Amino acid sequence: MECDGIDALVARWVRPQLRELTAYPVADARGLIKLDAMENPYRWPESLREAWLDQLRDAEINRYPHPQAPGVKAGLRQTMSIPNEMDLVLGNGSDELIQMIAMTLIGPGRKILSVEPSFVMYRMIATFLGMEYLGVSLKPDFSLDMERLLDVIEVQQPVLIFLAYPNNPTGNLFAREDLVRVIESAPGLVVIDEAYAPFTDHSFMPLLGRYPNLLVMRTVSKMGLAGLRLGLLAGPAAWLNEIEKTRLPYNINVLTQISVEFSLRHQAIFDQQTHAIRQARETLIAALSRIEGIEPMASEANFILVRLAGGRAGAVFDQLRQRGVLVKKLDGSHPLLADCLRITVGTPEENAAFLNALKP
Ligand SMILES: *Cc1c(COP(=O)(O)O)cnc(C)c1O
Repeated sequence: MECDGIDALVARWVRPQLRELTAYPVADARGLIKLDAMENPYRWPESLREAWLDQLRDAEINRYPHPQAPGVKAGLRQTMSIPNEMDLVLGNGSDELIQMIAMTLIGPGRKILSVEPSFVMYRMIATFLGMEYLGVSLKPDFSLDMERLLDVIEVQQPVLIFLAYPNNPTGNLFAREDLVRVIESAPGLVVIDEAYAPFTDHSFMPLLGRYPNLLVMRTVSKMGLAGLRLGLLAGPAAWLNEIEKTRLPYNINVLTQISVEFSLRHQAIFDQQTHAIRQARETLIAALSRIEGIEPMASEANFILVRLAGGRAGAVFDQLRQRGVLVKKLDGSHPLLADCLRITVGTPEENAAFLNALKP
């Protein structure tokens, strides 16, 4: 059906900043080995699936979920070493938490800061909300450009800073003492986004409470529950009580609550799986570094950033897809990512298939 004048009407009323955006890109992965989205590649043992389905059988999906999801929170406290005196806010994925934090701090002239390249949702959510976004470029080795960063913080006084630790899509950890300096210099909130916590031994969680402006965000997505959509924000009650007010009622659905509670009682399975992924990561990096024309970066996450010999990223991406392997093409998304692809670590079999598809 053609509806006269609709394009003009949309152009008149939808904010130009939003019309210029393209929606978060999700590639069609049907039939492909999926190494593009940092998912855990492992299924659960059959006995565990049966026990989970038994729990779901009793789900009361005619009722609203528990508004506070206390069972989920208790499980997270146990498995993620959240300091007892810190509060928790849950989001429908940590994406939703980024939005809630921004909505809590929004106001005329207020700015959100992050570094680039990093997780694209920081910039996108700032744009959705009409907030100014400051993206401070990393150094070519993907470390923080401290001189520039501290200067921008001092001059621009951002109300909110997001830093991913480890960073996506580069896979590295920023220097801890650099992050501490950022926290100490920032006039407003600093959120350390630990989406990749299962794949590193480093965390700011134990530092919660030491600084009045520090919050730590995590997710169960990368650990192996991406389909459930659950993120968590940990920090002092004074902040979280305010952020909690922006949470939509019942944002954590009945099936997610039951499934996360169940999963966290079987944390050992996820620990085994993430441990296997960490080992496979090192094997894959070693294999990649033996291939001419490919430079894999060190990684503390479940993916590897690789740089290909000049101008080949597009062709290699296409070749991999034609041979049945989907990775993420980053070339073109930021100057520091020229000639780069990002490969999520899969099972040993998937990683071998990837290496095979990489051959000329
Ligand atoms: C994947 C990712 C997220 C999003 O996690 P969800 O909980 O699935 O929304 C947040 N931050 C970073 C850095 C990520 O890479």
